[in-house]
This record gives sequence, structure tokens and C-alpha cells, in this order.
Amino acid sequence: MKDEFEQIRDEIPYSSPVKPVQLNLDSEFQFDCHPGVSCFNECCRSIDIQLTPYDIVRLKRHLHLDAREFVARYTVPFEMDHHGMPGLKLATKPGTTECVFLGEEGCTVYPDRPSACRYYALGAMGVRKVGEPRVEDIYFVVHEPHCKGHAEPVRRTVREYRKSQGVEIYDEMNREWRDIVIKKRTSGPTIGAPSERSMQLFDMCSYDMDSFREFIQSEGFRAVFDLPDEELNRLVEDEDALLQFSFRFLKQVLFGEFSIPRREEGVQQRIEARKHIWKKRKEEMERRYREEMERLKYEEEQQFSAEKQSDPQAQARR
Ligand code: SF4
Ligand code: SF4
Repeated sequence: MKDEFEQIRDEIPYSSPVKPVQLNLDSEFQFDCHPGVSCFNECCRSIDIQLTPYDIVRLKRHLHLDAREFVARYTVPFEMDHHGMPGLKLATKPGTTECVFLGEEGCTVYPDRPSACRYYALGAMGVRKVGEPRVEDIYFVVHEPHCKGHAEPVRRTVREYRKSQGVEIYDEMNREWRDIVIKKRTSGPTIGAPSERSMQLFDMCSYDMDSFREFIQSEGFRAVFDLPDEELNRLVEDEDALLQFSFRFLKQVLFGEFSIPRREEGVQQRIEARKHIWKKRKEEMERRYREEMERLKYEEEQQFSAEKQSDPQAQARR
């Protein structure tokens, strides 16, 4: 049976007949990229880059934008799995495949470029091997014909390359989120299709720290979760800590992995309040069902009388 790396590797459209080799942190590979290469910026002219939560935090801060504005202006939504788990890709300039941040002199957001840009020409992924609970980090070299960096005479280990590209902090900040995505993808039919509400929460906790910051200060959140004021203030002021907290919150909501203390009376009040909402929702669904039945009955009667007028004998035979 193929493991996840082998399955994904076989789906990547390689132009080279050589299949990528799985690397670990101490594996060496030959590659270098610098402004002197003849292909400089070629890789930014045809992009397909998935953004991580920490990519978004860094980019929106770089551009001094609110998360909602950044997402609206510079990303394109896509679904990460067949249940509609929301993902975001970096936008391209209108009518082209060129990155929206590519300028005359190169990358205009270079100090805060996304983690996929830092890794290139390495690919990186978390893989849960068959029968193992742990998610393993694996790496592979991506060979694309336009990239001349593979001919540069520089050899480094994956560990050295990651350090030189400043990618370690990105992996650290995104690790829990990556594990949530893998768990959600592989949770199987016992958990079933996620509700729209859980997908909305996933979206906010992954890509919109400004809304999440407002959410944790709301009365509804504070009625249910028992966070000391000091902790709440720290989260409001420190966006990196807020991002990590949002992943804890997601794990609690999606998988029942409790790490945020709850106020039991708040939970009970919420259940009581929800009972009212569920009752209303049920009544609304019943009302819509009745209306739909009446509409179908009316259409059938209309069709019947139209047929009767056009062919009275046929109707007599019915
Ligand atoms: S963000 Fe910068 S490095 Fe990444 S594809 Fe765009 S221009 Fe290139
Ligand atoms: S060497 Fe590769 S990564 Fe560097 S600019 Fe050229 S295409 Fe991009």
C-alpha cells in the first residue's frame, strides 16, 4: 500500500522522468538561487501557492492591512478536501499566472514572503505513514525546467537550507494547524461531513485573526470560556500567541480536545439558548417543506388542467 507521500508524489505533474526522492533534515541536495541566475523571478511568473495561516499574518502585517482586506485583495479561495475545507491561494495579476506581488525588481514582500516561496525548490509536507499516529516532516527537491538553480555548485542539507530561508518560524507557527488539517482529512466516515458552522470557524481561526480577536472579546465567548483577564489581554495584544490559541480553540471545537477551561453555567446557558434556536430552525424547515409540497401540488394541478384543455380525450383516458 502506498503511503501519503507516494500517493501525492505520483499525482504531481513532473516534466522529468526522475521521481523525487524523499529527503530528511540531514539529506544534502544541490541548489542555489540568487539575483545573478539567468532565470531570476521565473518561478514567480507561474504560481500555484497555497497560503498558511502564518503566511497571512505576516503578509497582512507587511502590507498594514486587516485580514479581511488582505484576503479579499490578494487571495483566491479553494477547497482543500471534498468536504469543502476552506483554503486560500495567493492571487495572480489579472489575466496572468504571475504572482500579484512580483514587481520590476523582484518580490515586493520579500521579508514576509510565504513559506512555499521560502522552501522552493524544496517541497515539504507532513505525512502520517500507514499505521503510525505521528505526523512526519518530509522533503523533496522539485525540478522544473525553467529553474537553473539546480546547476549552481552549492550543496547544503535540508536543515541548512531551511535556516538560510528563515522558514523554521513558519513551520513552528503552522505546525498545529497542519496537524488539524491532516486529522480532519483523515478522520474518516465516523466523524462524518463537517457542518457549515464548523467550516466557518475553521476559516476564521485559520485566516482571520482580526475577527478571531473580536470573537474572544465577545460576551458570548466569555460566557462559555473561562480565560483570566491577563491571558485575554495578552492574546489581544500578541497576534502570534492569538494564532496559536486559535488552533487550540479549533482542536477543542472540532475534535473535543479540551485545553481551554469552560464555565459550566455558561455552557448550560448556551445549550438552553441553542434549544430555542433549534426549535425555531425545526419550525422553519417544516414550514418550508409544507410550502414546497403545496407548490408541487399546485404545479401538478396546473399541468393537469393545461393537458386537459389541449387533449380532453387523452385526459378522459387517464
Ligand atoms: S510572494 Fe514573492 S517570492 Fe513568492 S511568488 Fe510572489 S513574488 Fe515570488
Ligand atoms: S533559480 Fe529557480 S528559484 Fe531561483 S529565481 Fe530561478 S527559477 Fe526561481
